[in-house]
Amino acid sequence: MASSRHILNNALDAVGNTPLIRLDKIAAEEGLKCNLLGKLEFMSVGGSVKDRIAKAMVLAAEKDGRLVPGQSVVIEPTSGNTGIGLALACAVKGYSVIITMPNKMSREKEALLRALGARVVRTPDTEPWDSPNSHLGVAQRLQREIPHAVILDQYRNPNNPLAHEYTTGPEIVDAVTSTPSSPLWPSSMKVDAFIASAGTGGTITGISRALKKTHNPDCIVVGIDPVGSILAFPDSLNEHGISKPYVVEGIGYDFIPEVLSRDPADVDTWLKSTDEEAFKAVERLMRKEGLLVGGSSGSALSGALTWLKSEQGRKFAKTEGMNIVVLLPDGIRNYMSKEWFLNFALRSDPSPLVDQSDGV
Ligand code: PMP
Repeated sequence: MASSRHILNNALDAVGNTPLIRLDKIAAEEGLKCNLLGKLEFMSVGGSVKDRIAKAMVLAAEKDGRLVPGQSVVIEPTSGNTGIGLALACAVKGYSVIITMPNKMSREKEALLRALGARVVRTPDTEPWDSPNSHLGVAQRLQREIPHAVILDQYRNPNNPLAHEYTTGPEIVDAVTSTPSSPLWPSSMKVDAFIASAGTGGTITGISRALKKTHNPDCIVVGIDPVGSILAFPDSLNEHGISKPYVVEGIGYDFIPEVLSRDPADVDTWLKSTDEEAFKAVERLMRKEGLLVGGSSGSALSGALTWLKSEQGRKFAKTEGMNIVVLLPDGIRNYMSKEWFLNFALRSDPSPLVDQSDGV
């Protein structure tokens, strides 16, 4: 992986290598003794955790001859971030891109995609995944109709989880093991628990494998799934089924993607999260930690805090030096015009700038 201390060849060399940051103020407010750490994926060049898989899928497809320069058209159904990563990679590499994306996803993502030269086809939010009109169905139709079209397919492509097993996971391990324990900041020097929200599930599956296989087999991995989605395991957790629409983007589905491991050996525990919890946690990450994250980062943080209060999580919360890592997938740049963001960003100041009480 390229180091940012050297001149990089192109934007693809600036994918990943994101910082792991202490969330000390939130930890103190929660009374946590453990270290609460956030992996800040909006610092990647395209602004999200999905840059990594876009790069890996494009490079692998070039290697095995599926992508031919000057000829191939890359089509991908996405909630936006994989599309942005692919459009960025394809801008560098010279491929045309068509992105199919449900209406619910933000205008900001569409604008970025178009700015990177991609064509964007919007699809209805309410179509089930296996309908010909869903973002998956429309992508498949376009592939049949357009010569030299290739769907890299983040839902099935093994390079999705592998990108995280080979990059995101090792970066987390590297940061934790290379930061010495000190009286001020005691550390177990291990990743003791990892929490991530899931969409395709590639992030949580790949990072879990990196952590459990080669670093700490006892690491507890916690998946966060929005109420209204069916990814959580066991199925009894998904009591609202797919009937309840939710606003947070990029996480949850009405089907189980092939790249998501629901094997308890990979993801130990699942928790559900609501929009309200997610947006409150985003506000907290901004106001307390100065981190300009998107909605699914709030889902991951609120899920992490809920888990740390659970029977399984409590002993981690109470142990000095335990390292609890939360993945923060993208930034607020993707959601600046969304009502949930403007509601808290622009709401009137809680106290006057100047104390008016004097001399009255
Ligand atoms: N958060 C956001 C904002 C995303 O775009 C995605 C990807 N859809 C995720 C979380 C979940 O990542 P994954 O697909 O790897 O589960």
